[in-house]
Order: sequence, then C-alpha cells, then structure tokens
Amino acid sequence: MPINLPEINKPRIVIVGAGFAGIKLSRKLSHKDYQVVIIDKNNFHQFQPLLYQVAMSGIEPSSIAFPLRKLFRRTKNVHIRVAELESVNPDQKFIMTSEGQVNYDILVLATGVTTNYYGNESIESNVYSLKSVSDALFLRNAILTDLEKALTVRDKDKRKALIDLVIVGGGPTGVELAGSLAEMRKYILPKEYPELNPKEMEVHLIQSRSDLLYGMSDEASKKSREYLEDLGVDVLTGVRVTGYDGNAITLNNGQVLYSTKVIWAAGITGNRIAGIPDEVYVDGNRIKTNEYCQVNGFTDFYALGDNAYMEEGEYEGHPQVAQPAIQQARLLAKNLNGQIKGKPFKPFHYRDLGTMATIGRNKAIADLPYWKTQGFVAWILWLVVHLKSILGVRNKILVLTNWIWSYITMDQGLRILIRHKTRRS
Ligand SMILES: Cc1cc2nc3c(=O)[nH]c(=O)nc-3n(C[C@H](O)[C@H](O)[C@H](O)COP(=O)(O)OP(=O)(O)OC[C@H]3O[C@@H](n4cnc5c(N)ncnc54)[C@H](O)[C@@H]3O)c2cc1C
Repeated sequence: MPINLPEINKPRIVIVGAGFAGIKLSRKLSHKDYQVVIIDKNNFHQFQPLLYQVAMSGIEPSSIAFPLRKLFRRTKNVHIRVAELESVNPDQKFIMTSEGQVNYDILVLATGVTTNYYGNESIESNVYSLKSVSDALFLRNAILTDLEKALTVRDKDKRKALIDLVIVGGGPTGVELAGSLAEMRKYILPKEYPELNPKEMEVHLIQSRSDLLYGMSDEASKKSREYLEDLGVDVLTGVRVTGYDGNAITLNNGQVLYSTKVIWAAGITGNRIAGIPDEVYVDGNRIKTNEYCQVNGFTDFYALGDNAYMEEGEYEGHPQVAQPAIQQARLLAKNLNGQIKGKPFKPFHYRDLGTMATIGRNKAIADLPYWKTQGFVAWILWLVVHLKSILGVRNKILVLTNWIWSYITMDQGLRILIRHKTRRS
C-alpha cells in the first residue's frame, strides 16, 4: 500500500535519512518547485559528534536531537514520514518502507552508516556502540547502574570489572570517550562515589593501528596519546580485540582484561539495501556515485554522505565525517534547483575544513588546512565549531550552559538513572 502523501503537480524528491546530508538538502529544497518527502526512522535529527557527552551525563539528549517537524513547520512543500527504508526499486521508481510504498521522481539516499563488528558475533552481542541518542542513553544507564552496583559488591575483582571501562577504537570517538571517562574518574568519582577508590577504576583504550587518530597529523596523534596518558588512560596500540563474552576481553597479544562494559568505536560500515545492484557497492558497503552524486548506472537516484563513495582526485571515497555530507547536499540542492531552470549539473569538489578532537578540559587537537594547534586554543576552536553546528538556538543555549556549568563546577549534573519500564513493572 502506498503511504498517504499529497499528490501534486510537482516532481517528488524522496530523501531517505535526516542526518547531516538529508537535513541540509531538504532545507535547501524547501520553498522550491519540488515536493520534498523526508523519510527517517526517527522523528528527529541527531548531532552525532556530541553523543559521547550524553553518554557521559554531560548534556541532555534533547539538546542534540532536533525534532524534524519543528525544523520544517513553515515549509509547505516538505512532508515528513517516520518509517524505515526496506528496499529500493530504481527501475519502477519507488521505495518500500516499514509503513508502505513511496513513489518518487528523484530518490536521494542519505542513510549514513552503522557500527562494524567485522563479523565477530561475540563482540557484537556484548559491546556497547555509540551511533544514536538511544545508544548514548543505554550506555549512560549502564555506566550509572554499574557504579551503583559496585558499591554493593565486596569482591575486589568483581567490583573492578563493574567500574573499569574498555574502549575499542582510537579514532576521534574513542579518544573523546576515553578522555571524558578519565575526567569522570578524576572529578566525579571522588565527590559522588567516595566509597569507591578512583585508583581502582581503569580506563583502557585499545587501537589496532600503531597510532591514535589515524588520518590526522603525527603531532595530533602523539599529543592525543600524551593527553590521555596524563589523564591516566591505559593506551594500547597495535593490539586487536579477538573476543568478548560480557566480562573477559581477549586481545591478540594474549592479554585478558575484565570489564562489564566495552564500548565499540572501532569501525563503521554501510547498510546494504535490497534492490540496489551488488555492483554499485564498494568496500565498506558504500554506494558508488559519480561526481554529481548520482548512483552508478542511474540518473534520478543519488547517494550522499557517509553511505556514498565518490572518487575525486586524491580521495578514494571522502572522509566519513560531517563536512563531505553537508557539502555534497549543498551541491546537489544547487544542481536540482538549477535543473528546473535548465542549468547543467556542476561536479562535486570537496573542501577540507580540517579535523578536530577534544580530550578533556582545555585539551584538544585541531588539524586545520593551514594550521595545526593543540591545547587550549584548539579546545576553544572545538567548542565554537561544535556549538555553531548544533541545530536550533535553544539547543545551542542548553549545550553552552551545561558546558559553562561543568567547566566552573567541574561537575555534570545529569547522572539520573532512568530505567526501561514495561507496562507491568
Ligand atoms: C559518536 C560519533 C562522533 C562523531 N564525531 C564527529 C565529529 O566530531 N566531526 C565530524 O565531522 N563527524 C563526526 N562524526 C561523523 C558524522 O556524524 C557523520 O559523518 C555524519 O553524521 C554523516 O552524515 P550523513 O547524513 O551521511 O548520515 P547520518 O548523519 O548518520 O544520518 C543518517 C540518517 O539516516 C537515518 N536512517 C538510517 N537508516 C535508515 C533507514 N533504513 N530508514 C530510515 N532512516 C534511516 C538515520 O536515522 C539518520 O537520521 C561522528 C559520528 C559518530 C557516530
């Protein structure tokens, strides 16, 4: 059955995914001569770069989630349907979703990526991931639950397994998480859990490559390690996790660590979608496109952002971060709006604006196109850039207020344990 949508005399662009790419494209197409249909499994846009702060009880989930209906309430040509994409039929130009069929004139897939467990089921079923607000809340609850549980346990090894944390993956997410967990141990544990010995709590960061922050400069990599080790994080590089049963983490160097919480930030992969020919996918399950973001072999079918793979000069697939997604969406909107006026398409050229990661108070690293900096200046830059990128004035104010409060008081006030309830509990 087709989903209920107004049938009007305008070409219909269906955008699947309201992440960085989907939102930018939809906003640039609003009030234009298209009917825009946004399909997302959530009714909100989420700002992934700050998920780890939600998991660490630093900011509220609602400050990094923005309701789609609020965003588009003044745009009559944009329709939102909360549904999950199930398959694509590019020949007959429709998609199937959990709520029914949607026909399109132009289809844009901007569904992002998912966590990659490299086929290891023991790992997949026991670790925590961090890709969504739900993941962040789940992790926050697990950390708080285990801290409370640890206070009730006499056995030192069992207690340690409850409070120790292992992060796998030394990219920006792993580094940021490790830094904030180490800060929690330093500033929060002594105040709120004085009966737990902070020295008993270990934070391990495991990275299979020989250095942290692959893709950033050597200085950034070295400095991030220095900052983390200063905070007391055990950084293990050149080491791979081979298995995890929910308590014991086995490493390929023979070492075994014990923790009830392993946070997996070690890789991402695209989701294969039924109906898209296999030959369109490249390694990492990304969808191959040409320089106009058109899916290989199709004209009215586009892919943007993390799930798209485009070769351009030195880039064999652009970095899977926010800027390529935003820039591709901006260009596609320009091309589609121009198409109506008979203008030719322009090809995509990525403008690298740099990479940043923060490790803790006054500690960050920034590799900018003409400048590399670390420490306080990089930290301020990180704060400004992230604050600027959050959608909505209210959310910006909420995040800024929380940051200022935490900075002054060395505290985070959101450690509330809200448990999942069933109807009868
Ligand atoms: C923890 C974390 C930290 C990060 N930190 C940074 C950072 O500091 N800087 C940076 O530049 N980048 C960072 N990134 C990467 C950045 O968030 C992504 O590159 C960016 O979100 C990609 O945008 P996108 O639009 O392609 O996909 P996304 O933003 O992931 O959006 C995908 C959308 O598709 C929807 N969707 C997915 N599948 C379906 C389906 N089947 N049906 C319906 N809807 C679907 C999802 O709900 C989501 O709304 C981080 C990512 C994570 C996870």
